[in-house]
Amino acid sequence: MRAVLVGPPGAGKGTQAQILAEELSIPKVSTGDIFRANVSGGTELGKKAKEFMDRGDLVPDEVTNAMVKDRLAQDDAAGGFLLDGFPRNVPQAETLKGMLADLGTRLDVVLELRVDEEEVVKRLSGRRSCPECGRVYHVEYDAPREAGECDNEGAELYQREDDREETIRHRLKVYRDQTAPLVEFYSGEGLLATIAATGAVSEVTARAKAAIE
Ligand code: ADP
Ligand code: ADP
Ligand code: ADP
Repeated sequence: MRAVLVGPPGAGKGTQAQILAEELSIPKVSTGDIFRANVSGGTELGKKAKEFMDRGDLVPDEVTNAMVKDRLAQDDAAGGFLLDGFPRNVPQAETLKGMLADLGTRLDVVLELRVDEEEVVKRLSGRRSCPECGRVYHVEYDAPREAGECDNEGAELYQREDDREETIRHRLKVYRDQTAPLVEFYSGEGLLATIAATGAVSEVTARAKAAIE
């Protein structure tokens, strides 16, 4: 399966992508995770991306598209993948379509996770992430077994720099202006499936599976 998750920051894309990718035995490709790993690793790519991420703006398309192209060319993505956080605007979606066409393939489905902005702000302000494995938690809604520690690694969870109220508001505006038009784009391509991303994580997973299978 070749699938894309679309939804505002905090919709639960990363949470669902992790679960679905495991269940479907395909890699999860999260552009946000790849950028953050490059920022903390101090790579050239990380240096290019950091200022945009800190502000809550999109990293320029030429940088992002090249990174995704490399990632999708890796062997483990040949049999399918779940994209989390890409594409994030219509030009990226056009580029993805071209990349897949060059590989002789195309997307199967685009899953839109729908949730209102008030809920998103609550989710993002309580989000905590594992620096080792990238798993995300919520201090109230999806707490780790031991407060502040990842279940998998025991690593100390951290709060993302861009999960502060002001940056959250800006990212939501970027979503409305640049990313939300993808819903119409993919609807026009006949690929869109939309679900409510509210309720328990397991309920959202069940809806997602029903929508994409
Ligand atoms: P969230 O999970 O909150 O939606 P991500 O982890 O997907 O956020 O992305 C974090 C940041 O990484 C974005 O605010 C943006 O700066 C950058 N980023 C991630 N994916 C893309 C993309 N497809 N295009 C441009 N920038 C991106
Ligand atoms: P995204 O990748 O779309 O930005 P995340 O998967 O990182 O979203 O989730 C954002 C925050 O919301 C995290 O703290 C996560 O634990 C929490 N969360 C995810 N799904 C749900 C849910 N169904 N109900 C409540 N909180 C959730
Ligand atoms: P430092 O320890 O150098 O002050 P942080 O650990 O706070 O830096 O990391 C800065 C930002 O980089 C964090 O807010 C987070 O977005 C990201 N980050 C750091 N390490 C990782 C990692 N291993 N995986 C994913 N994101 C990371």
